[in-house]
Amino acid sequence: MIELLTTLQICFIIGVTPSINVVYPKLAAQDSLVHIANVDSNFIFGSVAPPEASLSINGYSVEVKENGAFLAFLPVNRQSRKYILTAELGDEKSTLVLPLASPSPPVRLSRPDVEFPQLIELSGGVARTHPEGAYYIFPLPETRVIADDWRNGYYKLPLTPRRAVWIEGVKYVQEICSAKYLKTPIVWKADVESKGKWVEIRIPLERKPLYRDLVDVDLSKLIIDVFHVISHIDKISYLGNIDPIEEVIWDQPEEEVLRLEVLLDKPCWGYKVDWDNGDFIIKIRKTPDLSKGIKGLNIAIDPGHGGEDFGAIGPTGLSEKAVNLEAAIALANLLNNKGAKVTITRIFDSYVDLYDRIDIAEAAEADILISLHNNALADGVNPDGNFGTSVHYYRPFSRLLAASIQKELVRVLQFPDESIYYNNLALVRPTTMPAILIETAYIIFPEHEARLREDDFAEDEAKAIYQGLCRFVKEYRR
Ligand SMILES: [Zn+2]
Repeated sequence: MIELLTTLQICFIIGVTPSINVVYPKLAAQDSLVHIANVDSNFIFGSVAPPEASLSINGYSVEVKENGAFLAFLPVNRQSRKYILTAELGDEKSTLVLPLASPSPPVRLSRPDVEFPQLIELSGGVARTHPEGAYYIFPLPETRVIADDWRNGYYKLPLTPRRAVWIEGVKYVQEICSAKYLKTPIVWKADVESKGKWVEIRIPLERKPLYRDLVDVDLSKLIIDVFHVISHIDKISYLGNIDPIEEVIWDQPEEEVLRLEVLLDKPCWGYKVDWDNGDFIIKIRKTPDLSKGIKGLNIAIDPGHGGEDFGAIGPTGLSEKAVNLEAAIALANLLNNKGAKVTITRIFDSYVDLYDRIDIAEAAEADILISLHNNALADGVNPDGNFGTSVHYYRPFSRLLAASIQKELVRVLQFPDESIYYNNLALVRPTTMPAILIETAYIIFPEHEARLREDDFAEDEAKAIYQGLCRFVKEYRR
């Protein structure tokens, strides 16, 4: 009987023209070409209906999963620059052709009409180690600095005679000043005082300085180098209970560099460098009360993407923004039930800017920030690797939280353990609290997408994150 039915079903399906839906790479908006990075091989994924159809791409046979999903990693044909997809079912056949755009040549910018050294005003942003280098310094908005050179869009900002950083002109230089030089301000004193959830170190200064902040690996001190100032500190006042600050000491490692070392008697929980009406301020976050576990903690949850930003999309069309939101709501409910206070950056399918998400968490004075995502691969990466769950952090004091949650996610959800990453992502860059970003699974993989669609998945993920939070609190207190 069963065999008869199956035969009948196949007879019915044969005669249907198969359809092909490619999710990635897609034709660009208002363009008839597909744009991918300049790579030798790349992946292509989507689905075929009905799933009984066979699929080939550029002559390579590609496996179609039970639900019709497919994912292939193929050489990019440099002559034809096309993906030709053919689905066949019995005598019926359909073909889809995706023409690939040629790689675009590098852009060369013209040099600005400026005589160096030149005083410029920054809107904030980020200065790098090199025009193509890593993020290194995050200037305060309206910081005035001397630039002494320019290279392909980037102004060179000397920090000391032997050190410099580079900042992108179009994005972050808001004014070429008429004045040519800056007076070097003198640092006379510092006042340390408790203020709400923070302990503030207030330093009167004539103008906003360039500075570099760094937390020591054992989280026992915060080091701030302030550039182009004269150290003349004769007095540091300590008012009232300044826990977790033990002491503030200073040094001059190079001429016109003031190094402040804030020694802490508990592992650093977070800090913020700020400017207030003629004062340069370093705020140290007080350690929250962990005696009742996560009870009473304010936890910010950020469901990645939303609205017009779909995030990554799976082969059968599941969007990352929907999966992230579902997990976030499950997590918010669970944490509420456990006595935590929850701040969430979106509860609808709405677009929220990356920096607004951080502002929401910081305005609520959240103790912890957790951003929820699902992963995709960059062009050219072979999907045949150990890809699974990963947790990302940027600040050293977020590392323990990342490791604790990674352990529980892998134990509960059983995706491959891809480890934790130090990773320069906007949502994990805030300094005010431990902040992590979870990439639960690869939504672009047919098997992972199918798991993410399961009914209990969001609840299971929420449970794993909650257990990871408990593990973190226990290990932090140790
Ligand atoms: Zn994402």
